[in-house]
Amino acid sequence: MDRTVLVIGGGLAGARTVEALRGLGHEGRLVLVGDEDELPYERPPLSKDYLHGRTAFDAAVVHPERWYDDHGVDLRTATHVRALDAAAHLATLDDGSTIRFDAAVLATGAAPRHLEVPGGDAALLLRTRADSDRLRSVLSDGPRVVVVGSGWIGLEVAAAAVAAGCTVTVVERGALPVEHAVGPELGGLFASLHRDHGVSFLVRREVTEIVTDGDQHVVAVRLSDGRVLEADVVVAGIGVQPRQSLAAGAGLTVTEGVVVDDHLRSSHPDVYAVGDVALAYHPFLGRHLRVEHWANAEHQPAVAAASALGMDRHYDRLPYFFSDQFEMSMELTGFLEPGGYDDLVLRGDVPGLTFCAFWMRHGHVVAGMASGVQGAVPQIDRLVRSRAVVDPDALRDEGTPLSDIAARLGA
Ligand code: FAD
Ligand code: NAP
Repeated sequence: MDRTVLVIGGGLAGARTVEALRGLGHEGRLVLVGDEDELPYERPPLSKDYLHGRTAFDAAVVHPERWYDDHGVDLRTATHVRALDAAAHLATLDDGSTIRFDAAVLATGAAPRHLEVPGGDAALLLRTRADSDRLRSVLSDGPRVVVVGSGWIGLEVAAAAVAAGCTVTVVERGALPVEHAVGPELGGLFASLHRDHGVSFLVRREVTEIVTDGDQHVVAVRLSDGRVLEADVVVAGIGVQPRQSLAAGAGLTVTEGVVVDDHLRSSHPDVYAVGDVALAYHPFLGRHLRVEHWANAEHQPAVAAASALGMDRHYDRLPYFFSDQFEMSMELTGFLEPGGYDDLVLRGDVPGLTFCAFWMRHGHVVAGMASGVQGAVPQIDRLVRSRAVVDPDALRDEGTPLSDIAARLGA
């Protein structure tokens, strides 16, 4: 077989795509192009163990360099793909050279949003190894840190900064942290956890300016209520945008991500998309979904690779993610959108952070979270997939194993 498959984007999804292509028997040319000057790596440690200085960068690398040689992957790091011509099956690199492909997989991920206020460029962002290195070095001086945004980056950075001895204030334009992801009840729990460790929250406020001195060092942030807060470091975790300009330039259907079907095939039959950039049709949920989490980047590639090789596979794993903050280690599976539930059922010791939470809609479990409880996620997955009406009292009762509840429902 002399078919060439080109994978664009050298993050987790790109690396797993070349791995899956070889694993599924692709013997032709295989090129992986990524614009970071690193081997493909996983990002979760950048705001956790690697940022804390507890693990080396190597632990985050997906495969050592020799793996790509051993598997005949033409890996080109520090190389940016400038343009894609889907009809001509041609990608153009920054140096003007081109790569012809039979099939291409877009794994271009997402880029962090910049804080669009005066002085906003002084806010540190966290997406890459270099960002994490820079952040770790400034946190080690124990400065006054203002975190803008209390999504996952905001909370994980706040936890790391406290551990490094910093004074941390989180400025949040909503009422509670991670409310968009877990609702107000659990948002309140995350707020308490952080407050107990000394993090201050300033809610329903926005940063309107970062004030710097003549050397561009941060001295303060100005808030929408007029208050001026002295600070040495500002970190913005205000969400990401899918890196979809290549796809858009190629004329592929692009909205809030590269639109793909459940085979992860785009509007061009030879171009696929995976990971943070893919707005994929989810057959179980019956809608398109763009998931900005590790598990999606880990698992979608096998389906895109199979599809690119002409096999009939589709992607229908439920969204899943995890987070570690202070002594809390949580996992969440299912699909939860703001206002997407009418009941929250709790099981276990919530203050002790060993509990499960089930978000219910019309009696069905739509998503569930496990904090400090091993083995719950596969059972929650079964409950969600059953689409069955579940007795909330059984869910609440720790004496009734989740596996029994799922089995009774025939899940
Ligand atoms: P990315 O990781 O963004 O990789 C895309 C790569 O493509 C990048 O290297 C980019 O530079 C490159 N690229 C883009 N355009 C081009 C181009 N034109 N030419 C060449 N290269 C290009 N998720 C969880 O579930 N749990 C966590 O605990 C968690 N922690 C996280 C912590 C941090 C600090 C961050 C930033 C993210 C975290 N995530 C977590 C999210 C998770 O890391 C992402 O969902 C995942 O990285 C997506 O992988 P990806 O390969 O699709 O995209
Ligand atoms: P995020 O989780 O989407 O949260 C962004 C937060 O910033 C939201 O609370 C949002 O508030 C707020 N915000 C947006 N614009 C703002 C502004 N101009 N001023 C103040 N606040 C603003 O994104 P993130 O925390 O930046 O994380 C980046 C990416 O990394 C995401 O894809 C995330 O999933 C991923 N990540 C995941 C994990 C994990 O799964 N454990 C850990 C780290 C990072 P509104 O809700 O009001 O819009």
